[in-house]
Amino acid sequence: QRVAVVVVGAGPAGLTVGNILRTAGLDCVVLETETREFIEQRPRAGVIEEWCVRGLEKRGLADTLLQRAQRHTECEFRFDGHRHRLRYVDLTGQHHYVYPQPLLVTDLVREYADVRGGDIRFSVRDVRLHDLDTDRPSVSYLCPDTGERQVLLCDFVAGCDGARGVTRAAVPPERVRVARHDYGIGWLALLAEAPPSSDCVVFGIHPRGFAGHMARSPEVTRYYLEVPPGDDPDDWPHERVWAELQQRLATDAPPLTEGRLIEKRVLDMHNYVVEPMVFGRLFLAGDAAHLTAPIAAKGMNLALHDAFVLGDGLVAYLTQGDGTGLTTYSEACLTRVWDYQEFSLWLSEIYHGTSSGDPYRAATTLARLRRVFTSPTAAVAFAEQFLGPRAG
Ligand code: FAD
Repeated sequence: QRVAVVVVGAGPAGLTVGNILRTAGLDCVVLETETREFIEQRPRAGVIEEWCVRGLEKRGLADTLLQRAQRHTECEFRFDGHRHRLRYVDLTGQHHYVYPQPLLVTDLVREYADVRGGDIRFSVRDVRLHDLDTDRPSVSYLCPDTGERQVLLCDFVAGCDGARGVTRAAVPPERVRVARHDYGIGWLALLAEAPPSSDCVVFGIHPRGFAGHMARSPEVTRYYLEVPPGDDPDDWPHERVWAELQQRLATDAPPLTEGRLIEKRVLDMHNYVVEPMVFGRLFLAGDAAHLTAPIAAKGMNLALHDAFVLGDGLVAYLTQGDGTGLTTYSEACLTRVWDYQEFSLWLSEIYHGTSSGDPYRAATTLARLRRVFTSPTAAVAFAEQFLGPRAG
């Protein structure tokens, strides 16, 4: 079978690229190792920046999101036993949308497969990429029903298979530079069947470690606890989790509303960036090209930015022979990637400095935080980075 583009991975990046291609009437196949049910329920991100929602809207992909997402206009830091609110909407005119990633993935799959008639193959096995540095690349996989190897000939491959996929590994190591950063800390990522305990995102800066509170829906709240990297989630039973959250987020606010923990896993916080994001006819997008630990809630936003640039570039080339978008793809994406990487690093020091055990880092962290709440210029600078570029 021959198609214009094979998209490997049905996450936010791959499904967005697929939708953009289908709107232009181009043939593509999306390959996904998991089932549809699985990807429509996998919990992860929730915070989406305004420019990103506008980008989805422009491509007809935000109807349900705009009906159902919550708008967040402020955040709260808790340190020294006090609450400090930052109304970023007043500083920038921008806000965040909160819309759980599984709902976005559900919308994007429905639009791609059921509305725009896109070809998506779930539960595929052993995806392999061939002849990427020729103008006749192909992708093969084992069909889940028959176990037979299927081959898809194509013009381009979009590598959107996340941090653990195969497309990044298909690039010869001598053709890319991979820059890595390990924070040396872990976060226990939790989803609780409990209503949010605050009307905004809360960041607890505490000598015992960072704690975060993020609403996901009226019934479900995401929490984070800083833990040693590699910690075992089983060492964190219900009582220990809630005692630690209550302590690290304690102020004059009422105690947190507790509930059953429905997700509990330890993330070892690290980042990487692959440069360039292109090898021959393979274009990497999203977590396949760069990982941003969820410190500043940037990963899905970057994945969608890549997808917009890549989808538009592929359409321009395949429909009009205009290769500008593809030639500048890597550079256009990496500028934003590095900007967000730097902000994550900066924010990480605020989150983790006080618990580092180093009194010098602890004191400079608090100085950095106080500056955000005493200098209007510092507050605006923080808000601009926190919210991302101004929506066009
Ligand atoms: P993925 O979403 O990882 O999608 C890749 C897809 O490829 C998957 O469906 C996978 O099953 C499939 N796949 C894997 N291997 C293969 C293969 N060999 N062949 C075919 N398919 C394959 N980001 C934000 O912007 N805001 C947030 O608030 C936020 N919170 C987060 C909270 C947590 C706990 C975590 C873990 C992440 C968070 N992120 C956040 C990051 C965000 O979830 C990711 O950056 C985002 O999912 C990246 O999208 P993607 O499409 O690049 O990759």
